[in-house]
Amino acid sequence: MKVKVFLIFFIFSASLFSQPVIKRNPTVVEIIQRISADSIKRNIERLVNFHTRHSLSDTTNPNRGIGAARRWIKSELERYGKESGGRLKVEFDEFIAPIGPRVPKPTKMANVIATLPGKIYKDKVYIVSAHYDSRSGDALDSTGFAPGANDDGSGTSAVLELARVLSRYEFDFTIMFVLFAGEEQGLLGSRHLAKKLKDSGITVLGVLNNDIIGNTEGGNGVVDNTRVRVFSEGLPISRDESMLRLITQVGLENDSPSRQLARYIKEVAERYLDNFKVELVFRRDRFLRGGDHTPFNEQGFPAVRISEMNENYSRQHQNVRVEKGIKYGDLPEFVDYGYCANITRANAIVLYHLANAPLPPQNPKIKVSELEYDTTLKWDLNSEDDLMGYNICIRETTSPLWERKIFVGKVNEFTLKNISKDNFIFGIQAVDLDGNESLVVIPLPER
Ligand SMILES: [Zn+2]
Repeated sequence: MKVKVFLIFFIFSASLFSQPVIKRNPTVVEIIQRISADSIKRNIERLVNFHTRHSLSDTTNPNRGIGAARRWIKSELERYGKESGGRLKVEFDEFIAPIGPRVPKPTKMANVIATLPGKIYKDKVYIVSAHYDSRSGDALDSTGFAPGANDDGSGTSAVLELARVLSRYEFDFTIMFVLFAGEEQGLLGSRHLAKKLKDSGITVLGVLNNDIIGNTEGGNGVVDNTRVRVFSEGLPISRDESMLRLITQVGLENDSPSRQLARYIKEVAERYLDNFKVELVFRRDRFLRGGDHTPFNEQGFPAVRISEMNENYSRQHQNVRVEKGIKYGDLPEFVDYGYCANITRANAIVLYHLANAPLPPQNPKIKVSELEYDTTLKWDLNSEDDLMGYNICIRETTSPLWERKIFVGKVNEFTLKNISKDNFIFGIQAVDLDGNESLVVIPLPER
């Protein structure tokens, strides 16, 4: 009798624990605690005090306009750099925006960038970004009050807070903290930087673009401070026709590199944040809106947009006013700082693990030379000293998220017995000895 009970328990527990138990990393827990809602609140209030951060506004006034705003952002980043041992390289990334629909004459603009160089991979970077420019109701109004507390003071303050906290730590990959100019004039700063990085041979492994991450009260009355949206493109906009044909032929429409980044954010951020959910939206961006992640997608880099769950349109791109009892305008009083801090934490968790993980496996292939009952995957062996091995990720073709991970050790080929490649999507991810997992890569058919 006793034996039987034990046996049943054994079978039950074995199936329960067949998936590897993944622990929270104590350094990440420490980082989460250091990220402060108060510090984000102070940053947002400071940004609003510049009256407007419109990209065509005054650049010489010491207290008002986009020039004063970017000099303050740069000085803040420089201060964080000094406090953390001088490794943060801070600079203006200047460019001339040509005449366009929202640029009446050629205008000098500047992104603000702080770079934390990686210990191993200097030319391979992860980017966390937001736009620091703002606007009022009229896209060309460069003098009116445009507080931009949420759009995108929230994202800007999150990036500043991430630079403040993360610059105290070391990472294998380079992290760039980027504040874009010219977003509201047509994604000008991000388009400039994405092309510049591409042209200079720097590999951008992932972009977390934070745009409006502080509002929890929807214009329709729905209130939710426990969820955030991550938008990612399906078919990669940068790929040529023959690649798109292959993608549709083998059913990888739901597996762009940006979508792997989105899945990673959900899996890893939710591991640490209690009562906070990452909702993936399988769409490049919201209807009628654009964002600074898209120019990176256009250059072939994985990039996602992170945005609040519930928007309030009377608080975006509106002149500050009261009309029929409704308060319009993007004011600090409408920002939920605790919520914004949680989204900042989600960014920190993801950046920590990605920037310390091995390089995503290179040259991933799935063997399709003959009809067979097994599935064989191949890839190049990573060179990192602390490589532990690889996870094979598996899901049904109809499932949005990875359903199984099988750790297969330090090998560069693996055969899954009696698993038909026709019926599943497969991915491969490298893992180091500390449990840092790389982004998942999708094997392409090899004859
Ligand atoms: Zn925005």
